[in-house]
Amino acid sequence: MLQKKVCMLGSFSVGKSSLVRRFVENMFDERYHTTIGVKVDKKVVNAGGEDLTLVLWDIYGEDGFQKIRMSYLRGMHGYLLVVDGTRRQTLEDALALNDRVVAEIGKVPAVLALNKLDLTDQWEIDPARETQLTAAGWTVQHTSAKTGDAVEKAFLRLAQAMLPK
Ligand code: GDP
Ligand code: MG
Repeated sequence: MLQKKVCMLGSFSVGKSSLVRRFVENMFDERYHTTIGVKVDKKVVNAGGEDLTLVLWDIYGEDGFQKIRMSYLRGMHGYLLVVDGTRRQTLEDALALNDRVVAEIGKVPAVLALNKLDLTDQWEIDPARETQLTAAGWTVQHTSAKTGDAVEKAFLRLAQAMLPK
């Protein structure tokens, strides 16, 4: 079976681990568990009539002190770039991280997940900004790891983009 390495990238506390947990175990936890190093999970999906195993690398988030080690990204076929929709800065930080990733490993399929969609009243990313992102070539997907809304869809869109053409 085809196997694809997918990395979860984005700032600290945007919901990377929660998205993986929702996707793989269909569970959610309000508490925060710091991700130390890397946690690897697997899930088989069917995309475009083809089964493929997603090998999900959940990497600790970036913050002012800790940058992710680019060596974790080696062999990556695609990534979910995760943003906390209630903190606009996590979008700018994600885009800066993305520039470093592309410089390091080149362009591979990616989906930009605007997570915490359930917190609509605290949402900080306006539709105009999203239009810009889409125009710049991003596949943008709103998600909520809490409710499960569109989590599978985000991973499936990525899987689809990673299929051999
Ligand atoms: P990570 O550092 O990117 O791995 O972030 P986590 O997955 O650990 O999540 C950070 C915090 O945000 C935790 O307290 C989660 O419960 C919470 N969280 C994650 N996703 C969502 C979501 O979609 N909605 C809400 N309301 N909270 C979320
Ligand atoms: Mg984490």
